[in-house]
Amino acid sequence: MSKALVWLRRDLRLSDHTALARATQEHDSVAVCFVFDTVILEQLGNPNDRRLTFIYQSLMELKAELVKQGSDLILLQGDPTIEIPLLAKNLEVNAVYCNHDYEPYAKSRDSKVSKKLFDNKIEFKSFRDQVVFESKEILSGAGTPFKVFTPYKNAWLKELSKKRDRLLEQKVSMSKFAQASELKSVIQNITLESLGFKPQDLWIQAGENSARKLLTKFEPEMSNYAEARNFPALNNGTSHLSVHLRFGTISIRECMRASQLIKGTGSETWMSELIWREFYQMVLDQFPHVAEHKCFKPEYDRIQWPGTNDHFEAWCEGMTGFPIVDAAIREFNATGWMHNRLRMIVASFLTKDLLVDWRKGEAYFAQHLLDYDLASNSGGWQWSASVGCDAQPYFRIFNPESQAEKFDPDQKYIKKWIPELGSKKYPSPIVEHDVQRKLAIELFKR
Ligand SMILES: Cc1cc2nc3c(=O)[nH]c(=O)nc-3n(C[C@H](O)[C@H](O)[C@H](O)COP(=O)(O)OP(=O)(O)OC[C@H]3O[C@@H](n4cnc5c(N)ncnc54)[C@H](O)[C@@H]3O)c2cc1C
Repeated sequence: MSKALVWLRRDLRLSDHTALARATQEHDSVAVCFVFDTVILEQLGNPNDRRLTFIYQSLMELKAELVKQGSDLILLQGDPTIEIPLLAKNLEVNAVYCNHDYEPYAKSRDSKVSKKLFDNKIEFKSFRDQVVFESKEILSGAGTPFKVFTPYKNAWLKELSKKRDRLLEQKVSMSKFAQASELKSVIQNITLESLGFKPQDLWIQAGENSARKLLTKFEPEMSNYAEARNFPALNNGTSHLSVHLRFGTISIRECMRASQLIKGTGSETWMSELIWREFYQMVLDQFPHVAEHKCFKPEYDRIQWPGTNDHFEAWCEGMTGFPIVDAAIREFNATGWMHNRLRMIVASFLTKDLLVDWRKGEAYFAQHLLDYDLASNSGGWQWSASVGCDAQPYFRIFNPESQAEKFDPDQKYIKKWIPELGSKKYPSPIVEHDVQRKLAIELFKR
């Protein structure tokens, strides 16, 4: 009987899952595991990190489904480069399956695991799953990676028209999951507390079922997306699927298939955002210096950002005196969520109004965003700070007041997060936008 182990990482679901589909097609018995990677957990260092609750709850839902199928989920804690080869040996599997992860740490971890498994004569198979097209599949006519989004997107869409099968569901054969009795010796009881974390209240429900419900709820709204996506006070203006896409509680193919079923500019714009996600994954894979907090355009690494620590702290606390910025940051601090329009406004404000180094904002987001994704966060910050790939030109600077007038005209969003607006308790603006705008342009010119 041939046996396989599927190692879940940022793909915490049981449906439309390439590694699970392939393993259950190619083997008689398939065990499923997840490793709480102590290298990553130690870096987090905050027992109240909300992401652990999201991951843990998603895994518990997945485990319950596996138990329903007569199987179980193996949870481990430790260094995956040790734990995975050991588990594979204990279970006597012929192969370990997983889906590609394009972050630099994950790439080096996977190559170590692959080598150790190879030494033990166990196969290591990794698949494209997180994206529709991988970085080297979409290249310019000269065979080089694109540095501008629109031609990348056009090439991406052209490739999809030739390879429609890329969006097909990767069907998992549930009957192939290993029997719980075979897994008994490796099942451990791991809890959030035993990992050193405290359960947190989340603004969004974790797990595959909730992700599907969100997509279903968003489908009828998709036609309005091109306009509605800019208004943070609207509940259904955007899909809120980023956390699920980040942890793979929904497959990118399922989202893309949904957008293809609806015609019009709304769904085309939404699809375009999903392609931005792949664009930034491509940038990270092809230009890994962006993961080291370096500017995509190296000449901008020379900028000496004059912003003060006091201003940075006022920004972090939502006390800048600019209501749209403060409301966004306050919601963010309370929940770990921020609307895309607000991410652009607060990032522009930190870099172009407070003249604080974008890396400080990037790190603050990385610490607190529930949907934190290295590729999109680095891409988003570098875009806003005008130092990135296909970035906002440095002289185009958001005016926080006119942004608020345009996208929160009745101050519905602002008032929700700043109840003391208009009272003495709320601070006066800590800078003058027109003055700072000129300074920012000078800084870039220099
Ligand atoms: C400074 C800054 C930092 C950001 N950091 C992150 C991050 O860490 N993680 C993250 O997932 N997104 C990040 N984004 C992109 C974007 O803000 C979020 O993906 C979006 O707000 C999520 O909301 P939604 O799921 O309702 O998106 P929708 O509008 O419904 O879009 C659907 C999906 O497309 C993808 N997407 C949408 N916009 C973008 C974009 N500009 N770049 C890349 N992918 C996109 C997301 O996966 C999103 O879930 C950042 C943007 C900025 C400006």
